[in-house]
Amino acid sequence: MFGCPCCGELKFSPFRCHSRFCPSCGNKYAMARTHAMASKLISVPHRHCVFTIDDNLRHFFLKDRDLLNCLFHSVSSVFSRLFYKMNMSKNFTPGYIMVLHTFGRDLKWNPHIHCLISEGGYSDDGFWRNIKHFNYTFLRNAFRTALLNEMEHHLDSSFKKIKSSCYKDHPHGFYVYAKPRKCNSRSAINYIGRYLGRPVIATSRIDNYDGESVTFHYNRHEDEQYVEETIPAIEFIQRLIRHIPEKNFKMIRYGGLYARHRDIDKHLNRAISREKAAFYKNFTRWRNAILSSFGYDPLKCPKCGTIMVFLELKYNHKRVSLEELYEKVMSRSRKKRVPG
Ligand SMILES: [Zn+2]
Ligand SMILES: [Zn+2]
Repeated sequence: MFGCPCCGELKFSPFRCHSRFCPSCGNKYAMARTHAMASKLISVPHRHCVFTIDDNLRHFFLKDRDLLNCLFHSVSSVFSRLFYKMNMSKNFTPGYIMVLHTFGRDLKWNPHIHCLISEGGYSDDGFWRNIKHFNYTFLRNAFRTALLNEMEHHLDSSFKKIKSSCYKDHPHGFYVYAKPRKCNSRSAINYIGRYLGRPVIATSRIDNYDGESVTFHYNRHEDEQYVEETIPAIEFIQRLIRHIPEKNFKMIRYGGLYARHRDIDKHLNRAISREKAAFYKNFTRWRNAILSSFGYDPLKCPKCGTIMVFLELKYNHKRVSLEELYEKVMSRSRKKRVPG
């Protein structure tokens, strides 16, 4: 509850629902994760690679979502081997961000990894080496092998058959492709927002709901053909909720330079300077996010324009004492600080 110190007007602002499919909470969540990723980037060109898998493997990940970790492990091992092969006297380490998408444009189950990797690596003694050429033949083959081995390790012996058919069907490895556009430091936020921080479905792609069926559209990945689909609402919801990750599952993971905190890494320039990052972060906070998305200040008194002040917090229609709230937050952070 907020109140106007000038005219006494009261205003209630509801809690967020925290749903990823909520047009406002989901959007806020996407803004925050885009910001977190962009502020990690160092100021060099990055390449956007997408690691896909064989269609026949998809259902394994739906049945046992723990397997999704194998996708991250495989991409990481492929990159470290790629750089290991190129490294001569020095150990050059790239920085990369991996984001798991479990959805295709048609909303169907299609786990794949988007990755943004620096075009070059940083040596342990502080030298940067540019790398313009990425060996995609190697990436494809190595990713297929790494993933199939990881999966075999987690599944029973019946997987052997599928494994060998994957080798037969994909003699050149699983499809790994690079987006034609490179991500430079200036466009980092926009780029990440568009490709990596993307929600399962943007509200703009939902065209109609008549009480029974939902109509949505997408451009088919294979040929960029415009496709419109109308499906029963229940099926639409079913397709959506599959993509809700398990609790505490990390959809975004950092690798190489972006996963470590060494003093020497502080010499690297960030694509977005610290000051700017703080400025952008400001936009993800409630008041500024409302202002930038909807064009009004939620704390401005609708009657007289004075900035309203915070009065009271209510939960389940009961007043929550601020002291109690403070204790709750503090005990949570204390728990976090205790190791184990
Ligand atoms: Zn919401
Ligand atoms: Zn007022």
